[in-house]
Amino acid sequence: MKVYFKTYGCQMNENDTEVMAGILLKEGFEIVDQVELADVVILNTCVVRQKSQDKYHSALGQLVKLKKEGKIKLVGVAGCGSNLEGEELIALGADFVIGSRSIVDIADVLRRAAAGEKPIHLEDRVPLLNADLPRFRTVKHHAWITIIHGCNRFCTYCIVPYTRGRERSRPMSDVLKEIEKLIAEGTIEITFLGQNVDAYGKDLKDGTSLARLIEEASKFEQIRRIWFLTSYPTDITDELIEVVAENPKAAKSFHIPVQSGSDRILRMMNRRYTSAQFLELVEKIRSKIPDVSVSSDVIVGFPTETEEDYRQTVDLVKRAKFERLNLAVYSPRPGTVAAKYFKDDVPKSVKIKRLNELLEIQKQINAELNRAYLGRSVEIIVEGRTKDGSYYGRDIRNKIVIFTSDEELRNGETVRVKVERTTAGPVYGRKE
Ligand code: SF4
Repeated sequence: MKVYFKTYGCQMNENDTEVMAGILLKEGFEIVDQVELADVVILNTCVVRQKSQDKYHSALGQLVKLKKEGKIKLVGVAGCGSNLEGEELIALGADFVIGSRSIVDIADVLRRAAAGEKPIHLEDRVPLLNADLPRFRTVKHHAWITIIHGCNRFCTYCIVPYTRGRERSRPMSDVLKEIEKLIAEGTIEITFLGQNVDAYGKDLKDGTSLARLIEEASKFEQIRRIWFLTSYPTDITDELIEVVAENPKAAKSFHIPVQSGSDRILRMMNRRYTSAQFLELVEKIRSKIPDVSVSSDVIVGFPTETEEDYRQTVDLVKRAKFERLNLAVYSPRPGTVAAKYFKDDVPKSVKIKRLNELLEIQKQINAELNRAYLGRSVEIIVEGRTKDGSYYGRDIRNKIVIFTSDEELRNGETVRVKVERTTAGPVYGRKE
């Protein structure tokens, strides 16, 4: 049976798809890269925003139609959407639903669906997600590695603690075993993943921490760069900052969502820091790691957000000068505290206006920061080619560099590039 995956949302979902595809491949299924070639389509879904939920609902509708036309045999739903709306998805035409904590059972669930059952499988099987599971990776030089599952933070707008459960870390020995296997397959760059990656190890109570894991992973000679995503401000330790500063393989990049510059809104979001504490953290990181890049996430239009609250966010964004900023408009997520207790009272037009204004401010910050790249020589790991035949890759600060080269380059190769032109987005250059 040929299976096609469509993955929505975060890198943790990407990583879950790699695990499910790896298991299916080992169990005799075939993985294909187009719907047209598939017998089964599995949507690995995201519910973090209304928009992502709308997208997979629409895809499900189209796939159910394809099934009626006899073009595919089965449609399944995995990911956070499964945990949130299992029964409804079956009612909408899905043949099976598998939760984000049950992915190890994908082959069994698929066989049951093929036999005519309509399984809704939401068991908690997280402890079984280990280095011994097969993974189907399409990129060889870089790998995502989920090191901690779930989240204990309960931000009032977020559904993740309900869909993915509480924080559970993988033993460090198991993560290192996975890295060894990856190295054998040609991996040179890894990203440690967690909804709250800095909480890694806390639940193990044996001294394990993200800082220690980075140190241990960097001892593998073949590993050249180590990234981690996503950080929660108050979980970033001095030990972690020190390791990132000192370890040459640790990427000089922190992604730390701030979400708002208004302390009142931060309290309503149950984010456990003030805007001043956040700025102090960014300052501390920058003072210890001079050339570090700090990026962030902001939500505009949270319930009751006034013009004054929003101005405080603008002020924070201008002061923090993030290297990159992901902006989102608030949308209530059923099942969250915010959806239950706070009225979504900021008009859509105001939300969009705030979003657009912040986008413009951030664009100017990006353009200004990128100008510092002009004339620099940066070390890039090649990731691929653009449509016009140029190459692209990232430096150790996570800056995307598009460049030309007279020689043919391989993905995963390390090259030096002289930056000749900058924009508010990528910077451009030529291989030295
Ligand atoms: S830290 Fe907050 S926003 Fe991030 S996953 Fe946990 S609850 Fe959601």
